[in-house]
Amino acid sequence: AMGYFNGKFIHSSDLVLPIEERGHQFGDGVYEFIRVYKGRPFMMNQHMERFFKSADAIRLNIGKTAEDIIAIVEDLIERSGETNCDVYMQATRGIAPRNHLFPNVEASISMTVKPFKLISDDIRAVGATVKLLPDERWQHCWIKSLNLLPNILAKQEAFEAGALEAVLVRDGFITEGSSSNFFIVKNGEILTAPATTHILHGITRMAVKEIALDLGINLKEQKFTPHELLAADEAFLSSTGLEILPVTKVDGQKIGNGRPGMVTVTLYEEFLKRV
Ligand code: PLP
Repeated sequence: AMGYFNGKFIHSSDLVLPIEERGHQFGDGVYEFIRVYKGRPFMMNQHMERFFKSADAIRLNIGKTAEDIIAIVEDLIERSGETNCDVYMQATRGIAPRNHLFPNVEASISMTVKPFKLISDDIRAVGATVKLLPDERWQHCWIKSLNLLPNILAKQEAFEAGALEAVLVRDGFITEGSSSNFFIVKNGEILTAPATTHILHGITRMAVKEIALDLGINLKEQKFTPHELLAADEAFLSSTGLEILPVTKVDGQKIGNGRPGMVTVTLYEEFLKRV
C-alpha cells in the first residue's frame, strides 16, 4: 500500500520513522480513518473538523490547514490508483529526544491508503455477535487519540470469545463499541449514548442521525443499560469500517427475533445511497 510521511510519498512498509518519534514512543498524537467510495472521500469535512478538534484537545499544532491535508490525501489516493479505499492519517508531536515535556518541533503527519474490504455478506445477513465488557478507558474518549490500549484489549477479548466487537459499559450504561458506536431500537425508536466526553463522536453516527431524521425515524441520544439492550427489538453498530452493521447476539443471547431488524436494514440501504 501507499503511504506518506512528513512530505514524502512512500511505500507503507518502508522504514521511515526515527526511533525517537513521539507517536512511536508515547502514542502522543491523534488520528482519523476515512473511507473513500468511488474516488470520493465520505464526509471528509466532518473528519477534518474532528481531526483538528482532537489535535487542539491535546494541544498539538498540526502545522497545516484542513485544505493542505485534503490536498495530500487526494494526491496519495491518485498515486495509489485506488478508488475504493481507506485512508488512515495521524499527527503526532514530532521527532525529538524522548522526554515527556512537549518538544519544540513540527508535528509529524503520516498516512496510508489501502483498498477496503467490506464486512462479509454472511456476517451482514446473520448479524454480528458482540460481547459486553467494562469500559476501562479514560475521561476523554471524544479525542481520537493514538492511545488505544483499552480498546485493543477489549476487542481482543471479544474476538477470543467469538464476538466481532466489544460493547463497553461504564457506570452501568453502554457507551460504545471498542471501535464503533452502538445503537438499539425499541418500539421503532433508535437510542444511542449521548455525545458526551465518554464516547467518540463518530462520523458514521452523525450519518445515522441525518438518515434517521430524513426518514422520519425518531432517534434519541439517551443513555441505556445492558438490560435495555437485551430487551431491545434491534441493535446495530456504526463505524467508518463497519458502516451500519446489525447486531443480533449479545453474550450468547439473541436480540429481538435474532435476525437483523427492519430499522437497521432500512438505515443501511439509505446509507449505501449516500456513499
Ligand atoms: N468509537 C470508537 C471508539 C472508534 O474508534 C470509532 C472509529 O474508529 C468509532 C466510534 C466510529 O467512528 P467513525 O464513525 O467516525 O468511524
